[in-house]
Amino acid sequence: DQSLSEVDPEIAAVLDGELARQQGTLEMIASENFVPRAVLQAQGSVLTNKYAEGYPGKRYYGGCEQVDIAEELARDRAKALFGADHANVQPHSGAQANAAVLHALATPGDTILGLELAHGGHLTHGMKLNFSGKLYEVAAYGVDPETYLVDMDVVRAKALEARPRVIIAGWSAYPRQLDFAAFAEIAREVGAALWVDMAHFAGLVAAGLHPSPVPHADVVSSTVHKTLGGPRSGIILSREEHARKIDSAVFPGQQGGPLMHVVAAKAVAFRIAAGEAFRERQQRTLDGARILAERLTRPDVAAAGASVLTGGTDVHLVLVDLRNSSLDGQQAEDLLHTAGITVNRNAVPFDPRPPRVTSGLRIGTPALATRGFGETEFEEVADIIATALIDGAGTDAEALRARVQKLTDAFPLYDGLQQ
Ligand code: PLP
Repeated sequence: DQSLSEVDPEIAAVLDGELARQQGTLEMIASENFVPRAVLQAQGSVLTNKYAEGYPGKRYYGGCEQVDIAEELARDRAKALFGADHANVQPHSGAQANAAVLHALATPGDTILGLELAHGGHLTHGMKLNFSGKLYEVAAYGVDPETYLVDMDVVRAKALEARPRVIIAGWSAYPRQLDFAAFAEIAREVGAALWVDMAHFAGLVAAGLHPSPVPHADVVSSTVHKTLGGPRSGIILSREEHARKIDSAVFPGQQGGPLMHVVAAKAVAFRIAAGEAFRERQQRTLDGARILAERLTRPDVAAAGASVLTGGTDVHLVLVDLRNSSLDGQQAEDLLHTAGITVNRNAVPFDPRPPRVTSGLRIGTPALATRGFGETEFEEVADIIATALIDGAGTDAEALRARVQKLTDAFPLYDGLQQ
């Protein structure tokens, strides 16, 4: 049997190049993380060979005795981690989990109500080119133009007007916590189901550092790869009464055979997430975001026209508003990239620039917390970012790159990893 570098040197070079990129730069895309080696190992395993349509004990293929154990472990650990009645661990991705949730809770043509994409919502919550916008009638609530917060009186008014079948609480770019109890009350009042998409903040929930949506929602979906730090994939948690519908919406509703290597890697990730080291890491994630927000709200940054939406953060990310800056979102992203920091440009609510340019940045701390960063390192990163935003086009990117390299050298990643 030949190794990857023998069979395909071009792809082997991509893997090597990507490992070097991850090791040599500071990853601050809010939806990314570094999985532990144990997760890489489970995911790059012989379980990729196995077909296992169906669920443990009820498969449509023989030879499932080992993968059944993996899926049962993943389900039991997910239920225990989040205190849920039921867990489906088969969705290949967050978007597929969300497609299954709507499949289970609504019928095409029904109305769904979620946070507007341009205000921090997700594609699967009703964007017009997405299945959610094509199959369902879409109503949306936005954030308040003064506070940039979700106003529950507005959500209630929209719900009373639209009479949705499903209300969606969850976001891809929002720096505060949502009031799940208030969402549940509105859902009850209008006879809607409540679906919470906790993809971004699931790790914080698992660590007990963010309120849990599980007691309030009919269904909770999540990705496993963001703050939760597991393999790229999705899960769905639900009340017992929705269990059969959810399972059937995933298989055969949306998917064929589950990716059993990924299911096993999810089991590993849930086990890790139940431990004290994970909780401590999520605390550093939150501390890092708070430190970043504090630095980016100082007068020198404000004088350069950059500000922090909502004035701070309660989660793992900070949204920077560049509408009054000399840099647009694209320029700021490129500038930080030159300095060795990876972030993504992100539309701010009421953004005058097109989505490909934007007037904002979304900056997250989960990957750096996983890398081992604590307060001192986050202060240095925050200062590097602040310097770039202050100096704009005149930034000495070389000098910032040198500061970044000191940090990456001091916190090695995947040392000695053989791919
Ligand atoms: N839900 C939310 C809130 C997200 O932010 C994302 C990812 O960006 C998803 C779902 C989709 O996840 P995936 O990229 O795995 O399809």
